[in-house]
Amino acid sequence: MKKLFGVLGNPIGHSMSPVMHNDLFSLYNIDAEYLPFLVKEDELRDAVNGLRALGAGGFNVTIPHKSSIIPFLDEVDELAASIGAVNTVVNKDGKLIGYNTDGLGFLKGLDAYKTKIQSQKILVIGAGGAARAIYFTLAKEKPIQIDIANRTLEKAVQLIEECPYSISSRGLTLNHASSELGEYDLIIQTTMIGMEPNITEQPITLEYLNENSLVCEIIYNPLETRILREAKSIGATVQNGIDMFVYQGALAFEKWTGIFPDIQRMKENVLGQLGGK
Ligand code: NAP
Repeated sequence: MKKLFGVLGNPIGHSMSPVMHNDLFSLYNIDAEYLPFLVKEDELRDAVNGLRALGAGGFNVTIPHKSSIIPFLDEVDELAASIGAVNTVVNKDGKLIGYNTDGLGFLKGLDAYKTKIQSQKILVIGAGGAARAIYFTLAKEKPIQIDIANRTLEKAVQLIEECPYSISSRGLTLNHASSELGEYDLIIQTTMIGMEPNITEQPITLEYLNENSLVCEIIYNPLETRILREAKSIGATVQNGIDMFVYQGALAFEKWTGIFPDIQRMKENVLGQLGGK
């Protein structure tokens, strides 16, 4: 019998996950279907219980439900609980277990650059939900230092205080981080600055960027944001947000099926959906 999978969010119309996962189910001959579900905030509990009753194999969770879903699950793994957000749920014999593959997806996307996290000085720009998943996940890996720069400094400081993994960290203003940019091996841009339609903006100036740095962006629309374009022109290595998106999906697919899927195919699928932008 066909297994049901899906993604709960609001809005959900532009999600690239259904096409990406359905392609994988067909590639691996798995009799399953992944559907987008538009779920309003006050209907989340019913939606979760409905999926449980229908015997869904699992589902993804996206904005605005990543945190509010937690009370409706039977179990949440340690990393997702510390982040306070779940993006992947597995139905294990009727028990719904929540995971967070966003930060791990980012981490896995770094493999291609042979980055040894433990020897890195890292700057995270932004202190929102995505930054939290990435910061906690990287902190668990024990790099030398992870600083957080944010428009609202208090939010960066709060994130550092709430992290359960002990790590050398400073909360910085965006200007402060700009002036010390040369110190970092890895810079991760997690704000929505530079995203369509505000593509001429960037969160910090790159005057002091070290050309040996790796600059990562988690935005994938456009594929090359202004910060990536400038970093590349300085000679730094750059990565756009496609890798994080594809790897978070791959890790979810692996949890549901036991198969770690073909990443290159997933990337091509997503690029195709973005219209090769
Ligand atoms: P969020 O929780 O709303 O956080 C937004 C962040 O952006 C905050 O740090 C906020 O600073 C900052 N910001 C917003 N407008 C700003 C402005 N005008 N100037 C300076 N800073 C500003 O959002 P999120 O969920 O973390 O998502 C952030 C981005 O990541 C989005 O573009 C999203 O599409 C992308 N994302 C990508 C993936 C992927 O798989 N590639 C996954 C998740 C998210 P304040 O604290 O000062 O408000």
